[in-house]
Amino acid sequence: MANPQLSSIIIVGAGPSGLLLALLLADLSPRPDITILDAAPTLNEAPRATHYGSPAIQLFRKAGILEEIRRDGYMPEKICWRKLNGERICGYDRSLLHDGGLDGDGLTVYWVGRLCALLEREVKKRTGVSVQWDHKVTGLKSGLDPQDTSASLEVEGPGGKSTTYTADYIVGCDGGNSTVRRLMHGQRNFPGFSWDVPIVATNTMIDLDRFGWEDTQFVIDPVHWFMAARIGAHEDPKQNIWRISYGEKAGLSNEELMERQEMKFEQMLPGHPKPSEYRILNKSPYRVHQRCVERMRVGGSNGGQSKGEQQQQNVQDDQHIPANGFNASEVRAALAREPAPAAYKIAEVTGAANSGGGAWGPKPNHMANNQPFFVQLAKQIATLEGGG
Ligand SMILES: Cc1cc2nc3c(=O)[nH]c(=O)nc-3n(C[C@H](O)[C@H](O)[C@H](O)COP(=O)(O)OP(=O)(O)OC[C@H]3O[C@@H](n4cnc5c(N)ncnc54)[C@H](O)[C@@H]3O)c2cc1C
Repeated sequence: MANPQLSSIIIVGAGPSGLLLALLLADLSPRPDITILDAAPTLNEAPRATHYGSPAIQLFRKAGILEEIRRDGYMPEKICWRKLNGERICGYDRSLLHDGGLDGDGLTVYWVGRLCALLEREVKKRTGVSVQWDHKVTGLKSGLDPQDTSASLEVEGPGGKSTTYTADYIVGCDGGNSTVRRLMHGQRNFPGFSWDVPIVATNTMIDLDRFGWEDTQFVIDPVHWFMAARIGAHEDPKQNIWRISYGEKAGLSNEELMERQEMKFEQMLPGHPKPSEYRILNKSPYRVHQRCVERMRVGGSNGGQSKGEQQQQNVQDDQHIPANGFNASEVRAALAREPAPAAYKIAEVTGAANSGGGAWGPKPNHMANNQPFFVQLAKQIATLEGGG
C-alpha cells in the first residue's frame, strides 16, 4: 500500500482496534514510525468480543491473520430465534454462507484475549512499530488547529513521569471512554443515546446440547430476553462453553445485577438449572451506547493531500461490500457521505428501551419501524436460502 507521506503515527490504545490498525499501517511503503501507547501494564484479558462479522473478517484477511483465526476459532453454523419456552420460531444454517474457506467472510468465533495476543505477537515482528505499556495519554498539546501539520500529546509514563509525544497523526483507539475523543471533541460531546437497560455477559460451562440448542439462539421475551451462543474453548471449540448474555432491569447496581444472576438463569434457561448444574467462568454487566462523534478527523492537512481527500481515497480503497447485496445501496450511500461515519445514525433518543422495537420494548414482535420482525426475518432467510 502506498504511503501518503506519513512519517510518524501514534496510536493511543493497544486493544484490538489499535493493534489491528498498527498491523495494517505497517504495510505502508515506506513504513512510518508507529508508536502504540497504552495506559495499562499489559493486554486486557477481560472477556468481551467473541464473534466477528464480515467487516472484521475482511480486515483480518488484509492483515494476514485470518488463517490462524479460522484454524483456532470456529464458524457457527446454526442460528435461530426462540420463545422463552424453547420453541424454535425460525432460523437458518450459516454453512450456506460460509463455504468460501479463507475467501469467505463468514462470522467467526475467536476470543478477544486470544486475538489481542495474536495481534501483539505480529506487531512485535514488524520493525519500526513499538508498543509502550504504562503510558497514559492525559492531554493534547497541539493538533486541533486547521493549520497544524502535526499533533502532540502529553503522556504519563511509569512512575508518573510526563513526556510529550509528537507525530504526523494521532489516532484514538482508546475504547468507549476514549480520552482522545474527549480531548478532541470535549468531555460530553458524544451524540447518540445509551440504552437504559443493562446487559449481563457471562461465559458459562453448561450442557445446552441436550435440549437440542443450536450454535446461537436469540430468545425473544419482553422480560427474559437473552442470547446463548456456543463459544467453545481455546483448546477445544466443541467444549460446552457458552456466551450467555441477558437483559436486566434498569436502575440496578452492579452488585444487585450479580446477585440476581442465579435467579435469572433458573428462570430463563432450558431445564431451569441450579448453580450446581453449570459453572460460570466470567460474568460482567455492561451498557450499550449508540453514540458517535460528528467528525472522525480534526486538525490540519498533511503533505499535499487534504485529510478530506485522504479519507475519500481510503473509503474508496476499503469499501465493504455486504454479502449477497443486503443493504448494499444504503451502505454505499452512507460511505459516499464524507466525513460522516457509515455505521451510526446520530439521533437524540432517550432510552432505547422506550423506543418501541426490540425484544425488550413494548412490542417485542416488531422492529423499531413497526414492521413485524419475524415476517421480515423469514423473508431475509428465504432470500439467503435461495442464494439471492
Ligand atoms: C461483553 C461484551 C461482549 C462483546 N462481544 C462482541 C462481539 O462478539 N463481537 C464484537 O465485534 N464486539 C464485541 N464487543 C465489543 C468489543 O469487545 C469492543 O468493541 C472492542 O473490545 C473494542 O476494542 P478497542 O480496541 O476499540 O477498545 P478497548 O478494547 O477498550 O481498548 C482500549 C485500550 O485503550 C487503553 N486506554 C484507554 N485510555 C487510555 C489513555 N488515556 N491512554 C492510553 N491508553 C488508554 C486501554 O488500556 C485499552 O487497552 C463486546 C463487548 C463486550 C463488553
